[in-house]
Amino acid sequence: MIEVDQEHLESMRAHGERDYPFECCGLMLGQFDNNSRKTVVETYPISNAREEEAKRNRFLIRPEELVRGEKYAREKNLEVVGFYHSHPDDRAVPSQYDLEHAWPTYSYIVVSVKQASAVDLRSWEMESDRSRFNEEEIITIVSAGRL
Ligand SMILES: [Zn+2]
Repeated sequence: MIEVDQEHLESMRAHGERDYPFECCGLMLGQFDNNSRKTVVETYPISNAREEEAKRNRFLIRPEELVRGEKYAREKNLEVVGFYHSHPDDRAVPSQYDLEHAWPTYSYIVVSVKQASAVDLRSWEMESDRSRFNEEEIITIVSAGRL
C-alpha cells in the first residue's frame, strides 16, 4: 500500500505528459511505515538516461543520479520509497524489462500517456521472489499544507 497525495500524483502525470513521446522517470521520496506501507512526500524528477532512440520504451536511472537523489532525500530525513516512469502509448503495467531491472520493497508507479495525455496511473510492487509485479493500492490523501 502506498500513500500519495493528489499533488504528487498530478506532478507525476504532468512529468509524463511533458516528456511525451519519451519516457519520463523519477524517484518517490518519503517513508517506509509499518506493515510495508509507504508514504510519498516528495517526487524527484530525473531525466531519462537512455539514448533518444531507446527512450520510448525503457527507463534507466543513472547510478550517479540515484546517488544524488538519495543524498537529497537523506538531507530531508526521507528515503527513496520507489520509482515512477511513464509508458508512452502503452498501458500502466510494468514491462518484462521493468521486472528484470526492479528491486523488491520499492514501489513502481507507471503512468500511461496516450497522445500526450496521462490516462492511467498504477502502482506496482515486486513479488519477493522477483517473479512478477503485483498491483499495489494507492491511497490518495490531501496534503497537510492544503487542509
Ligand atoms: Zn516501463
